Amino acid sequence: MTKKQRVKEVIRLLKEEYPDTVCTLDYDEAWKLLVSVRLAAQCTDERVNKIVPNLFDKYPSIEALANADVSDIEAIVRPCGLGRSKARDISACMQMLVNDFDSKVPGNMEDLLKLPGVGRKSANLIMGDVFGQPAIVTDTHCIRLSNRIGLVDKEKDPKKVEMALRKIVPEEEGNALCHRFVDHGRAVCTARTTPHCDICCLNEMCLKRI
Ligand code: SF4
Repeated sequence: MTKKQRVKEVIRLLKEEYPDTVCTLDYDEAWKLLVSVRLAAQCTDERVNKIVPNLFDKYPSIEALANADVSDIEAIVRPCGLGRSKARDISACMQMLVNDFDSKVPGNMEDLLKLPGVGRKSANLIMGDVFGQPAIVTDTHCIRLSNRIGLVDKEKDPKKVEMALRKIVPEEEGNALCHRFVDHGRAVCTARTTPHCDICCLNEMCLKRI
């Protein structure tokens, strides 16, 4: 089986298993997803979803958050960990949106990557979820599952995994596939326990490089 054939089968089987996959960060505006994705570094999406309403109630727009005291942002987001650097990034990011992007989240990778605190993973998430563009979000689940299943070979570097997957995953499938990797990585192909291969829908075609 080639990697292209393998990924086609993975997409088919994971679609059956998780038909309604979505991003697990709650948001109703693009800039809020930008903030939440920064807060989600080394924190659970669940905790981020609990904390951000406190921030967005107090600062309900890009401009309001851009003008907020960094120390006040830090006080609110501290439960997500790394409060100081996250607050600094969020403040600088909102200021750049106001000053350079007409208070709008840009819809291309190049500009997204200019924003403080936004790396390829976050930029891909915004491109896929907000703008419906081809995207590969190489978070920890995507990297672990791609290696175990045999879509990449002993590759842990996020950008290299992204580029390798872009070669074999149909453009229109990438974003949802990555959300399904998160679903499957949490439920079955777990990181902290032995993966549950016996109940896994990918059992027959996975290379199980564990
Ligand atoms: S068969 Fe095992 S290693 Fe492969 S995806 Fe399923 S749980 Fe993970």
